[in-house]
This record gives sequence, structure tokens and C-alpha cells, in this order.
Amino acid sequence: MNPDTVQLIMALRSSGVTDHGVLATIETTPRDLFVTPEFVDQAWEDRALPIACGQTISQPMVVGCMTEALCLTGREKVLEIGTGSGYQCAILSKLARRVYTIERYRTLLEEAKRRFAALKLHNIVPRLGDGGLGWPEQDSFDRIILTAAATEPPKALLAQLRDNGLMVAPIGTSGRQRLTVYRRDGETFHEHVLDKVRFVPLLSGIARTL
Ligand code: SAH
Repeated sequence: MNPDTVQLIMALRSSGVTDHGVLATIETTPRDLFVTPEFVDQAWEDRALPIACGQTISQPMVVGCMTEALCLTGREKVLEIGTGSGYQCAILSKLARRVYTIERYRTLLEEAKRRFAALKLHNIVPRLGDGGLGWPEQDSFDRIILTAAATEPPKALLAQLRDNGLMVAPIGTSGRQRLTVYRRDGETFHEHVLDKVRFVPLLSGIARTL
């Protein structure tokens, strides 16, 4: 293993990501393929980095924490909102049965699709759209993950979560976001907060530019 990878995995362990499958997947997923050329030398550092369209690829520690919170066994149908670089999605695709992912920027979506093909990740279904509406034709999902912050958990997404399913999402305004896990129990949603985080906002509609 290269020394940068070893360091990253150690940093994740010390910040509380302990699931062996999650750590092994982060270790074997080449984050350098998901960042822009000028940031390749920082790809294995535990920090968020800028990507095209003014968006960011999440910090590995946050990716680890969110993935762990989804308690994946390999059998789940997952919905991700905010494909971005495709990094979080690639990690999920190795730990779940199928991942449906929605992005509102065409440029980001096309780049992510190329990466999925290059890495032979064939269980990902990408789509351009407004993720706040979910993916009604595929209703329902075992797991839902939002990688952009909403002020409230979007109702359409909660409605598309199957009974006993889990949703993880950054909730709050830009200064004060909390990574929150929701578990559906009939029409009740039990929630608990994992951490403070900083994500780009969940916006509505498909992006007009790019
Ligand atoms: N999961 C990504 C993180 C990308 S940042 C990664 O691993 O790189 C969050 C992404 O959410 C951005 O690309 C942004 O364009 C997208 N986004 C924001 N609001 C959205 C919406 N309503 N529907 C779909 N994508 C959205």
C-alpha cells in the first residue's frame, strides 16, 4: 500500500471509522481519479477538495462516517443525491447491490459516468435531475444518502425510504449543519445526530449552466 493511503486509513480509524469493509473500500478506491488534475497530489489527504461547477468532493472521513452509518450488507438498493465527482457513489457501489445517483449538473454527471465505466462499476444507475424529488419510478429504497445539505429532510425522500430503511443527510443551514441518520419505523422517523459537518447546499431544479 502506498504511504499516503496508509496515512489516510489511520486518520479515518482515529476519527472513529472502524468498519472493516468501509475502510477496505476507501483503501482500494483510487480517489486520485475523482479529483481535478491540480489537486491530484492532495487526493489521499483527509480533506474536501474543489471539483468542477463550484462543488466539492467530500472529505474521506465524512465519506467513511456516512457510509458506515448506512450499515450496508451488500444487498441494498441505495439512492444517492448529489453525484458530484462520483467518489461517494463508487464506494457505495462496492458495498451495496445497486446505487441510483442523481446530479443536477450535466458536466459533473458525464465526468462521473466516465469514471464509473473506467473502474468497471456496473451497478450504478446515474441520472440528471433534481434529487430533492427522489426517483419516484424506483420507489422504494433500502438506503438514501444526501451529499448536499438540506434545511429539512426532503419529504419526497422520506416517502421513498422503505420501512426500517436508513437515510443519512447533512441537515441545517450553511453555518450549522448536522449529519443526521433517520430510520423509518412505519410512519415515524427516528433520528440521531452523528456530527457537525459542512456541505454545499441542496438546490432545486436542474442547473441551467454547464
Ligand atoms: N457525493 C459527491 C459530493 C458532491 S458535492 C462526491 O463524492 O464527490 C454535492 C453535489 O450535490 C454537487 O455536485 C451538487 O451539484 C449536487 N446537488 C445539489 N443539489 C442537488 C439536487 N437538488 N439534485 C441533485 N444534485 C444536487
